[in-house]
Amino acid sequence: MPKVLVTGATGFIASHVVLELIERGYAVRGSARSADKADALNAILSDYAGKPVEIELVNLDLNRDEGWAEAMNGVDFVQHIASPFPPTQPESPDDLIIPARDGALRALKAAEAAGIKRVVLTSSVAAVDNGWGKSGPDIYDETSWTTMTGPEPVPAYSQSKTIAEQAAWDYVKGEGEGLELAVINPAAVLGPAMSEDVSTSLSLVSTALGGTLPAFPPLAFGVVDVRDIAKAHVEAMLRPEAAGERFIMSAGELWFREVGDILREAYPDRKIPSSEMPVWLAKLFALFMPALKPSAHRLGRLNRYSNQKAREQLGIEFRSPQDAVRASAESLIKLGIF
Ligand code: NDP
Repeated sequence: MPKVLVTGATGFIASHVVLELIERGYAVRGSARSADKADALNAILSDYAGKPVEIELVNLDLNRDEGWAEAMNGVDFVQHIASPFPPTQPESPDDLIIPARDGALRALKAAEAAGIKRVVLTSSVAAVDNGWGKSGPDIYDETSWTTMTGPEPVPAYSQSKTIAEQAAWDYVKGEGEGLELAVINPAAVLGPAMSEDVSTSLSLVSTALGGTLPAFPPLAFGVVDVRDIAKAHVEAMLRPEAAGERFIMSAGELWFREVGDILREAYPDRKIPSSEMPVWLAKLFALFMPALKPSAHRLGRLNRYSNQKAREQLGIEFRSPQDAVRASAESLIKLGIF
């Protein structure tokens, strides 16, 4: 049975990638900063899958060399998904940049040394569309890259994803030539959560469901379902033509207020606002709300993404953004979080 190493296997996206791999007959070795989480993770995966699932879990830290060589033993492919994705920005961008970049390079170098054929790296649209402001293209595609020298500031998280992805491509074009790399660039990933330890992206739904917002900030984002993201990771691992390519994964864009509309329709008894605050007021709020601060410069603007390449080259038939929002909410309610 071919084996895949999935880094950050305890995370939202990685858990779905693990199940997609198991469904397709692969053995999985997961990694986490603490392998003590193995029993809890297997229980979560089994609960969600509705059947017993057992994966091996090994210790790997993006900031440390220990264990990477051993983790590659007997492995055919690597899904490098782990990267810090905190709900608020750190004091120093390096807190995110260093683990993101050095972790990606550790994964690639260890894979290359072990003779592994292909690594799939989870990047982000944060590595595609940041920094351009109004001077960006009407639709961002895989030729687009975040600019650090453009008219708009680039938040620390977006810097970390851009620098890590760029370092990964530089590595396989230079020292690591021969190792195949494919990159997935998701927009905001929604869809079913498996555990209470929810990813930052699900706060888009939990904040709306929570009933504490007076009105929605005028924020827009691409949305994609985590189950489609899992499929894309596996297709990018297997399809010969995916080597050397990056793939934007966005099913379509939503304004935050539209997330509220979808949830109000599904849960009419909940207190979910229908109004949107003006840009000036949201900018004022952003000064005091750490979660909104990094997006302050994007308020009132919608960036569009092409998903043509993922449809044509990975065969992804996207679930709608509306379905992804509803599936997130259902799972958060079922888990007892809201
Ligand atoms: P989660 O927070 O659920 O998962 C992040 C994972 O990264 C965790 O499993 C965590 O493992 C691991 N991690 C963080 N820091 C370290 C470290 N220093 N060493 C080892 N592992 C570490 O987030 P998601 O599942 O949402 O994100 C997964 C990936 O997808 C990330 O690369 C993120 O940037 C990317 N992404 C996510 C999007 C989204 O909307 N969710 C959109 C675009 C990209 P541990 O158990 O050890 O804490």
